[in-house]
Amino acid sequence: MVVGTAHREPGSITRGHVELGSYPDGPLTSPVVIASGKKDGPTLWLQSCIHGPEVVGPLSIQRFLKTVDLTEMAGTVICLMLANPLGFRGYNRLTPQDGFNLNRVFPGDPAGHHSQQLAHRLLELSLEHSDAMLDLHSGGDLTITCHYTLFHNDGTAAGVESERLARATGTPNVWNSLEPFLSGAHFANYTKRGKPSLIVESGGGARVTAEDLDRLTGAIFGVCKAINILPGDPPKLDRIRLGGDAVHVKCTRGGLFIPYVGPGDDVREGQHLADLVDLFGDVVQEIRCPLKNAWVGSIRRPHMPIYNGDQVFELVETKGYEPA
Ligand SMILES: [Zn+2]
Repeated sequence: MVVGTAHREPGSITRGHVELGSYPDGPLTSPVVIASGKKDGPTLWLQSCIHGPEVVGPLSIQRFLKTVDLTEMAGTVICLMLANPLGFRGYNRLTPQDGFNLNRVFPGDPAGHHSQQLAHRLLELSLEHSDAMLDLHSGGDLTITCHYTLFHNDGTAAGVESERLARATGTPNVWNSLEPFLSGAHFANYTKRGKPSLIVESGGGARVTAEDLDRLTGAIFGVCKAINILPGDPPKLDRIRLGGDAVHVKCTRGGLFIPYVGPGDDVREGQHLADLVDLFGDVVQEIRCPLKNAWVGSIRRPHMPIYNGDQVFELVETKGYEPA
């Protein structure tokens, strides 16, 4: 197996770079690391920074690579450190050159704009080389997410397997979404092509916590155990919360954002979630929960100045708990 300039060598960790596009002066590349067990087995595609500022991903992959025992590994983990190199360099959730959210333009287009070409390249590379994909996210600088896993279980074998892997990540919020707003995500398109895939999220707000690092690193080990790249059982939680459709609450006034709930909180219809205040301190908009029962998937970073139309909450419909 060869990915860019990195070659698989059984029992070792090898490095290289893989070409994903072009700068005006030459190739646009990402660092890639291949961790290979002594024994053969499946291959996991592990990826971070499809959203540039979400750096818990590469930090967790580094921790995984420093702590994994290759002698007990059967199979391969391909680590793509920067799925969106221009977004990473620009510290931007969007691709700076065209303004698109890369994780909304899959399956991409080899003759389209830069983000579409990159999406096409990432999808084909990941499908060519792997049996499953784990895409790491961490909110970014403007947003703070709770700890959740997101996947596309449409009832196909790949969808069902995606959900099984999601439940092996040690993540308390398990969110299956077939909603149109995610139809252009990498994980959804990978699964539609017949292989299991999932996202794990934790963190954001322009900082990295030890908890976020533990969560994403734990998810990597959990998925490796679930597909038998590593021995042992993945983590099993006593109780998980299920997610349904989401509402992205946008403010209608500008101001400073003062939230009264945090990522992961349970909320109910009519609950006062936040105020927007103007520079005199007067409330210009009260934000209330529009869903009967939901949990807070993400919030805008508290106290940020925001414009009318900015997203301030992602609320995920509560589909239930297991056990009930
Ligand atoms: Zn993200």
